[in-house]
Amino acid sequence: MAAPLWDTHTHLQDESFAGDLAEVAARARDRGVERMVLVGVDERDFARIPATAERVPGSIAALGIHPLRLRGDDARADPAAAAARLGEAIGEVARRMRPAAIGEIGLDAEAGPDDAQVRLFRLQLALARELDVPALFHCRRRFGELAAIVRRDGLPRRGAIYHAFSGSREMAAELIALGVRLGLGGALTYGNAVRLRDLVAELPLAALVIETDCPDLAPEPHRGERNEPAYLVEVFAALCRVRAEDEDAVAAALARTCEAMFEAAHE
Ligand SMILES: [Zn+2]
Repeated sequence: MAAPLWDTHTHLQDESFAGDLAEVAARARDRGVERMVLVGVDERDFARIPATAERVPGSIAALGIHPLRLRGDDARADPAAAAARLGEAIGEVARRMRPAAIGEIGLDAEAGPDDAQVRLFRLQLALARELDVPALFHCRRRFGELAAIVRRDGLPRRGAIYHAFSGSREMAAELIALGVRLGLGGALTYGNAVRLRDLVAELPLAALVIETDCPDLAPEPHRGERNEPAYLVEVFAALCRVRAEDEDAVAAALARTCEAMFEAAHE
């Protein structure tokens, strides 16, 4: 019996799933994707994620403020004050709700002043350490700064996932040395991702997890469609293919990693 597949990064709370969430959840289950992490991006998710988790069997809730939230109209006027206010808001909610992870959090080249982003990221990384749950990182063109903060501040005991990894061999080595897992998604299935597949073939399996990032970034052959957790099987198949490893063994290894990160933290 194959181990359940874990989709470690979904946004099923997104309005694009409002009309058919039950069908989406059933399709995932039919294809062996039995566990899903619901990942937060802003304060609306403080209510939407728990409500969605109740409707999706096998799902668990993460809460976080995405760095791009600082681009909001209310935040742009005074990003430093917004970072402090958002950090305080998520701290209050997460201490009460006890999510299974804090995320997605991180740094993004498009997200406005770096000092406000850094402040918001460090507040939430500290929150994950305090709650003893893993952190889910989002990072776009700010890798060196993110890695330096993680090295200086420290990871939560249950580690972290660097979501949507598609970086270099050096980045992978640095993340693994820090104890951060690499989240692999639809990019692994794209025709031009030769370098990523070559790299993933060589990395320790225990350092890897898989994800859809639905509704975005659908894998082949669904590219351009709304993404959903059932399509994780395409990412999983690509991972097994590039590593030339047995599917049951890969599924079991991935499930062990996710159980250690999320379940022990949650119970
Ligand atoms: Zn995401």
